[in-house]
Amino acid sequence: MDRIESSFVAPKEELVQESNKELLQRVSTTFFFLHEGVITTDAAGKILLMNKSAENLTGWSSEEAYDKEFAEVFHLRHAAARESTINPVKEVLETGKLSHAPADIVLIDKNGTERYIAGTCVPAIGKSRAVTGVIINFRDITTAWQKQKHKEYLSHRDVLTGAFNRFFFQKRIEEEISWSERYQEPLSMMMLDLDYFKRINDTWGHPVGDLVLKELAQLIRGLIRKTDFLVRLGGEEFIIVMPQTNGDDVARAAEKIRILLEQHRYPIVGQVTVSIGVAEHIEGETFDSWYGRVDGAMYQAKDNGRNCVKIADKQELRSVVADPPKWQEEWESGHNGIDKQHRELIEMGKLLYDLSIQGIESKTVLKQLDRVLKYLAEHIEYEEKLLLQIGYPGFLRHKETHDRLLEIAFNLRETYTQRRLRPAIFFSFLIDDFIFGHILQEDNDYFPYVK
Ligand code: GH3
Ligand code: MG
Ligand code: MG
Repeated sequence: MDRIESSFVAPKEELVQESNKELLQRVSTTFFFLHEGVITTDAAGKILLMNKSAENLTGWSSEEAYDKEFAEVFHLRHAAARESTINPVKEVLETGKLSHAPADIVLIDKNGTERYIAGTCVPAIGKSRAVTGVIINFRDITTAWQKQKHKEYLSHRDVLTGAFNRFFFQKRIEEEISWSERYQEPLSMMMLDLDYFKRINDTWGHPVGDLVLKELAQLIRGLIRKTDFLVRLGGEEFIIVMPQTNGDDVARAAEKIRILLEQHRYPIVGQVTVSIGVAEHIEGETFDSWYGRVDGAMYQAKDNGRNCVKIADKQELRSVVADPPKWQEEWESGHNGIDKQHRELIEMGKLLYDLSIQGIESKTVLKQLDRVLKYLAEHIEYEEKLLLQIGYPGFLRHKETHDRLLEIAFNLRETYTQRRLRPAIFFSFLIDDFIFGHILQEDNDYFPYVK
């Protein structure tokens, strides 16, 4: 009891003054039987005491835990990244600041049982304002967490097949695209449509058709990786999203799935085949464009007689990294200085493009990128001076678009340094935004004034 009394008076100033033994006794009892787990440590992070709930949740008795390092008794891990451990006491002792448990955190007790917990770590501040220890309070939220996960599970699934539903797909696919672009990893998708499925319904009835769909989804789940996911788009159309998979690999995977499904025999109906379209996502491509290509490939498979795989033809793709165009006469303003600079910018951009497709290391690319940016800023300054000199009436509006262009350019640079962008995208900025968007539209408005 000594330990409980001495450590618990510390944080509350009023309690110190009210050295009423009866009150202290009551506080100690409340503390001990509190539904929340409470642990206090000393300034070195060693455990002083734990209440009953903390004992139950950690599997350690107060006696066993006394004077042990906090992390030795309190094993915390992020639920998703199972390998990483967390020590909030260390953090609070170092910063002197309160710390909340992050979401999805798991406490592993002495027997290895895992519980989702929520809680806070508060520094205990002594008279001299020094941190004298840490007070940790926490509670078991496993049931609430499971309920929430189950709710999420249901809202993301198709009831008949257990595959993900369209709603989940729409939400998740944008994340997959960003992930793939950010980490420069390939991402592919396939679309499957059952062949002559109407006949199955017509011959055997809708419920038998349903059983086929259910069994097929089950079969597919057994054929794909954990990181892939199966979506039932609706009816008898499915999508399989395959992260970290390029166009060749997705084509191979599709062929494997097609053959295994072809070989399978379903109760009552026997054989059912599928037509599959596949496509790898292209960096910078919108979801709609990608989906359109997969859909197109699937229809080609149908046209080709069904029970086959078609790959979205890369020749037909609108790539964001188009071949750099040559300087064209219509880009001439008639002003020597301006035209020289516009030409130079395109040349510099071309060099950037070449570096990027050669896979040159990023330091060299960044150097060139900065050269282009510097030149772009200087050019804009030059152009603005000139426009002011000639008293161009659209000056303010024009300056605004310059500012916007520079902002985009510098943002792109920032994104590039975080390795979330290929330099070729920067080149496409120079072509699309700067040349086609700016020189050919806004600059064209002032060309008659400078000629
Ligand atoms: P195709 O080879 O051209 O794909 O021929 P198909 O008969 O499969 O044609 P289509 O894909 O246009 O037809 C889809 C059929 O799938 C229509 C409908 O009878 C059936 N269907 C759609 N949803 C369900 C479902 O939930 N359960 C069952 N049993 N059948 C469904
Ligand atoms: Mg069909
Ligand atoms: Mg269909």
